[in-house]
Amino acid sequence: MTNPDEFSLIAFIAAHCHTRDDVVLGIGDDAALLQPPAGQHLAVTTDTLNSGVHFPVATPAVDVGWKALAVNLSDLAAMGAEPAWCSLSLALPRADQRWLEGFCDGFFALARAHSVSLIGGDTTCGPLSICITICGHVPAGCALRRDQARAGDDIWVSGYPGEAAAALRLWQCGQLDISAIAANQQVEQLRQRLLRPQPRVELGQQLRKTGLSRAAVDISDGLLADVGHIAARSRLQARIYADALPLSHALECIVDKTTARHCALRGGDDYEIAFTAAADQRTAISALSSELALPLTRIGRMQPGLGVVCEGETALSGIPDGYRHFLPASYSAMNDE
Ligand code: ADP
Ligand code: MG
Repeated sequence: MTNPDEFSLIAFIAAHCHTRDDVVLGIGDDAALLQPPAGQHLAVTTDTLNSGVHFPVATPAVDVGWKALAVNLSDLAAMGAEPAWCSLSLALPRADQRWLEGFCDGFFALARAHSVSLIGGDTTCGPLSICITICGHVPAGCALRRDQARAGDDIWVSGYPGEAAAALRLWQCGQLDISAIAANQQVEQLRQRLLRPQPRVELGQQLRKTGLSRAAVDISDGLLADVGHIAARSRLQARIYADALPLSHALECIVDKTTARHCALRGGDDYEIAFTAAADQRTAISALSSELALPLTRIGRMQPGLGVVCEGETALSGIPDGYRHFLPASYSAMNDE
């Protein structure tokens, strides 16, 4: 493609699409036409990634494509929804076909893995920004919701939170090149967790189908901050046991114990799922963990009260309480690279 314009870029993207049977009309008209399944609620969510705000400027295009979709899939996972369709709004500083090829490689690899059809979007010129709206479906009345936790529920978390935050920390200290495979295996594991989050779509659906859980949230802004959303919406208090946090071997190898714990509690970008479940479901949840080959760890309890309390937490080590826009930003320190 020489001097690609808006339409050749769209044609390039469209050529990569696979189309589900429930897409009546996909890319190419003024709007897409979709056939939602009868009796199901649509679950709709949007997330934007801005260069230098949500990812370092030097992030490889393939990882940007993966992550832009992953963060949206993670929101559907937290609702227990089955992903189906998405739209893609791309603002590109210039019509850079090589960048778009990389982006499409990452984006469509994940889209195929979850049978998501790209059904439209918008392509404009501007500072690099990717906005995806994703739709899924969930049987009416069965979605996992932040407001459905009950007093006495256990709080669980999937995977090993904190690895992405640790990678971000290494990058901020100039100890990690975000764009290159790290020589150290553990550092590379952390880098992968930052660049290639694995949305826990299967876990969300299993929790919903089995009825093991009714309340969940994905950890994008930090475990304490996001569990705090369940507490607030359910009008309860979340008590977290810091000693129970699952810390990965890689995390413990690369940072000291205090930092590891703070990354796990307060670092963002993990895209694990925190959920609540009645105490009599512990055996069933362990069985689900084995079935999915995904660690599920009991880290706390919902109780009467408000907010989040964390038992056994040590002094802060500089990681903020969950990411908030318009406050000093995590990725902005090195925006000028
Ligand atoms: P309109 O001017 O009517 O909004 P566009 O010219 O922007 O239409 O887009 C033409 C078609 O290409 C539409 O179907 C639109 O959804 C699709 N499209 C545009 N940009 C993208 C993109 N980045 N990814 C997927 N589809 C896109
Ligand atoms: Mg348009």
